[in-house]
Amino acid sequence: MWHTTLSNTFLDILFPPQCVVCKKKLENNAHYKSICNQCLGLIDIHYGFFCPRCARRLPTPRLVCHQELHYVLGAVGSYHSTPLRELIHALKYNSVKIASEPLTYLLDLYLKNVFSESLRPLLDQAFLIPMPLHKKKERKRGYNQATLIAQKLLSIPEWSTLSLKPLLVKIKHTSSQTECKNYKERARNVAGSFIITHQEEIKGKTIIILDDVFTSGATMHEAALTLRNAGAKNIIALVLAKA
Ligand SMILES: [Zn+2]
Ligand SMILES: [Zn+2]
Repeated sequence: MWHTTLSNTFLDILFPPQCVVCKKKLENNAHYKSICNQCLGLIDIHYGFFCPRCARRLPTPRLVCHQELHYVLGAVGSYHSTPLRELIHALKYNSVKIASEPLTYLLDLYLKNVFSESLRPLLDQAFLIPMPLHKKKERKRGYNQATLIAQKLLSIPEWSTLSLKPLLVKIKHTSSQTECKNYKERARNVAGSFIITHQEEIKGKTIIILDDVFTSGATMHEAALTLRNAGAKNIIALVLAKA
């Protein structure tokens, strides 16, 4: 314990923590070690769910438009928000694991916005599944960013009734989605990517798949389809930012 505290203090002196967005040295009153209070305050948090196809706003996690889809989308904020995007980027690509703290804080605020008292029962016994990475990718990064956020979320008493269940496994090492030109190509790229380890556990359940961003949706569609085929009743894709 002493060692960690000492070495952390030492590191803070050598490399004073700075905001991942504006790069300013963090003041002592900063709530988090990765972003300054000003940049954090610039992030707008959504108040509803969305249709994953047409982006229509939905007050409850129920599709009223594209009902052939297997899930609804919940997104904390917009990917066009620079501070939110930079936080996610820092966590995902620059190994700034500590960025998971303000991101979990924002996720908590969003969930409080959308899960009013009347909707809370939906979350009783719901499964929280972090979007899996292929094992090669996870080994390279050293962690799964969605798992980090999921673990932190469950430490908040309000959401501790969710069960963290990594039942989805990515078996296909897909090339980067950004290299695919169009949606069809992306969908083909991810087809058959996932398997479920304990099919019998999924049946009749409400599942929340947690991921960092939702862009084309091809990966999420595939994951949701896999879960629906296994008998999941309600599926909510929960992401930190949507395009
Ligand atoms: Zn800042
Ligand atoms: Zn729609």
